[in-house]
Amino acid sequence: MDFDPYQEGAAAPGPRALATDAVHAGREDLAGLGLHAPPIDLSTTYPSYDSRGEAARIDAFAADGAEPDGPPVYGRLGNPTVARFESGLARLEGTDSAVAFASGMAALTAVLLVRGAAGLRHVVAVRPLYGCSDHLLNTGLLGTEVTWTDPAGVADAVRPDTGLVMVESPANPTLAEIDLRAVVYSCGEVPLLVDNTFATPVLQRPAESGARLVLHSATKYLGGHGDVLGGVVACDEELAGPLRQVRFATGGVLHPLAGYLLLRGLSTLPVRVRAASATAAELARRLTADPRVARVHYPRIGGAMVSFEPAAGREPHEVIAAVRLITPAVSLGSVDTLIQHPASISHRIVDPADRHGSGVGDRLLRMSVGLEDVDDLWQDLDHALGPVRESVPAPRAVRGRHT
Ligand code: PLP
Repeated sequence: MDFDPYQEGAAAPGPRALATDAVHAGREDLAGLGLHAPPIDLSTTYPSYDSRGEAARIDAFAADGAEPDGPPVYGRLGNPTVARFESGLARLEGTDSAVAFASGMAALTAVLLVRGAAGLRHVVAVRPLYGCSDHLLNTGLLGTEVTWTDPAGVADAVRPDTGLVMVESPANPTLAEIDLRAVVYSCGEVPLLVDNTFATPVLQRPAESGARLVLHSATKYLGGHGDVLGGVVACDEELAGPLRQVRFATGGVLHPLAGYLLLRGLSTLPVRVRAASATAAELARRLTADPRVARVHYPRIGGAMVSFEPAAGREPHEVIAAVRLITPAVSLGSVDTLIQHPASISHRIVDPADRHGSGVGDRLLRMSVGLEDVDDLWQDLDHALGPVRESVPAPRAVRGRHT
């Protein structure tokens, strides 16, 4: 928590390519410490013989939520291994700071609590969102009130008590994309939160378009291997302080082992995302040309997610049941390819009318493409789509804009 990558002795780098930052950000002090791999600090507490100094650091944290100077105090206040991941992710997203949480939902919860505590309980949001994010907003579980709109309706939906505008782009699971600059303009003074889980900073850096909060389910591409749950919000320091205070008070901290795995995940993020995206683009092309597929969704900015609807004659659950190499499982962003049926799983919790209204049809399948060979994946899909049927209309590719 007192980790400063630019502390004395560590030269502050000039602008570097994302691939370089992915490998080095959050690790700049290691050589000076005589280390190569980042240390994992599992301490829950830290000894201090100076209780006056510690009291002053706690007071300072209570005042503005800035990372306490000096030695760490307690694991819920901050952890040096987690701070390395935060520092690395902030660099990749191009923000001052990042605040890590136990999961993506814990991260969103903290944002909603911070804005609500400031008396700004109203949220404007664009569907589709990940099912549980939709649920959290729609139920008002945290005392917020939501107005659902489309990107063009954001300006009209904003009220004096609006504390947040929230979008996903590309959206889960339709991969609909939003013109982030246009939405930022519509937000006026209200901060825009972009869930950047699907794009990752490799394909899109929402802060460059003016988004003030960039949220990730770090469980997905940032970790990248399906073995760690985490969440993170990249933002300016003004918003980061209250997020750290809420994290401290509510306890949704990221475990240091998870922080270590996420930092390690960042180092291969650009390579993984680019390789999986190339395979996904090719699979989207083959699916689009296949008469057994009615509709394919693939974003303009690319990425490793492809959604599609089997044509009449093959039910989505039959495709799920027939895959052999691809794993039928919810979640995404791992090295192996996963497929799931949003209406049954990731978006089950959303009311069917709301689901359908935002383009999440009952026939839609969502696939997270991994790092396997493209022909092996195609062979599995080809088998899962079943025999070619007569007289089905040619598939339609859907690339692009939010409808
Ligand atoms: N945002 C998106 C786009 C997601 O897909 C998910 C989970 O699937 C979340 C947020 C929630 O993240 P977590 O499962 O880490 O709480």
